[in-house]
Amino acid sequence: MADIHTYDFSGKRALIRVDFNVPLDKETMEVTDDTRIRAAAPTILHVLKNGGSVVLMSHLGRPKNGPEDTFSLRHIVDHTAKVLGCEVLFATDCIGETALAASSALKTGQVLMLENVRFHAEETAGDVEFAKELAKNGDVYINDAFGTAHRAHASTTVIAQFFPNDKLFGFLIEAEIKSVDRVLNSTDKPLTAIVGGAKVSSKITIIERLIEKVDNLIVGGGMAYTFVKAKGGKVGASLVEDDYLDMARKIIKIAEDRGVNLYIPTDTIIADAFDNNANRKEVAIDQIPDGWMGLDTGTQTSSDCREIILASKLILWNGPMGVFEMENFQKGTADVANAIVDATANGAFSLIGGGDSVAAINKFGLADKVSYVSTGGGAMLEYLEGIELPGIKAIRE
Ligand code: AMP
Repeated sequence: MADIHTYDFSGKRALIRVDFNVPLDKETMEVTDDTRIRAAAPTILHVLKNGGSVVLMSHLGRPKNGPEDTFSLRHIVDHTAKVLGCEVLFATDCIGETALAASSALKTGQVLMLENVRFHAEETAGDVEFAKELAKNGDVYINDAFGTAHRAHASTTVIAQFFPNDKLFGFLIEAEIKSVDRVLNSTDKPLTAIVGGAKVSSKITIIERLIEKVDNLIVGGGMAYTFVKAKGGKVGASLVEDDYLDMARKIIKIAEDRGVNLYIPTDTIIADAFDNNANRKEVAIDQIPDGWMGLDTGTQTSSDCREIILASKLILWNGPMGVFEMENFQKGTADVANAIVDATANGAFSLIGGGDSVAAINKFGLADKVSYVSTGGGAMLEYLEGIELPGIKAIRE
């Protein structure tokens, strides 16, 4: 595999797989959040600055049967041009004559965007012939789409084989890998993972993996009530996965055996309905009355978590502590976010990953006060779970 820092791009067309799957306004079709475009800009600008030209390929949304204007990347051409500060050309297909004519006519310093790769069913099928056609649009392949690195699709994985000596990671994916590896491989201690969110079932693999590594594991969000019930507590109408009670007991036992501090919240904010305006009370988490449900963590839990977090050198946070989307149940999540910010200011390394904790940290305006916010939710979780991501493997092998 080649290295973006040393690769000679002069006179070369860099075919870059970016993740420009950005939200668009339904009426105006304008980009409403350009985080992903801005995140890919350093790689694109680096190629241009070093004498190359750029061919961008991405997916947008989930088109079902071929081209659909709603999912056309033409809607984001102007915005991308604005972010990059240069003209962006557009090809109405990603393979075939249209694409090839445009990509082969590219001059040094020019940028071309290809139409949505998912307009061809062969993309998600990981079709080799399709990948070969895509590959004709570039002399060097750069993968800078961490968010899709866990998919063995044509443009994210299969295509790499057509660039045996000219395939490399972009700056974004490189930074993602570095941050996750830092958490997985560092010997800095204590390492604290905070895993919240709705369900144990969707987080169990990551919990099983993390419990091998961490010193503290804080369980929060809806998941906590399954643990509380597994220990014999009364959880009222809280979210519980009865199928996972044994699993929760197993995790508790592993934590004991390994000497991991498994922190299960001790108090909770309960509500008599799943509603921001429901009646609220703070109670011990194992004594929730019938008909009431826990929607946030309580004062004691916040202060316990803060103490654990402030004493940590490495922090990984995935999943909110409560239903943070509702104002009356966001405090537990905000308290954890603020504790992570303070720990970071004191020198800890903090990685925030997974859709909802990223949404939460953005909501509280704290994203620039933690060490790293991962852009690829699903991909980051799989990486943390120890799965070798096909998009990463394809570049490395
Ligand atoms: P996940 O995608 O698994 O990280 O779950 C995130 C979702 O979990 C958010 O939408 C939260 O509102 C939800 N959540 C967090 N705490 C609770 C809770 N106590 N009861 C129900 N849902 C919760």
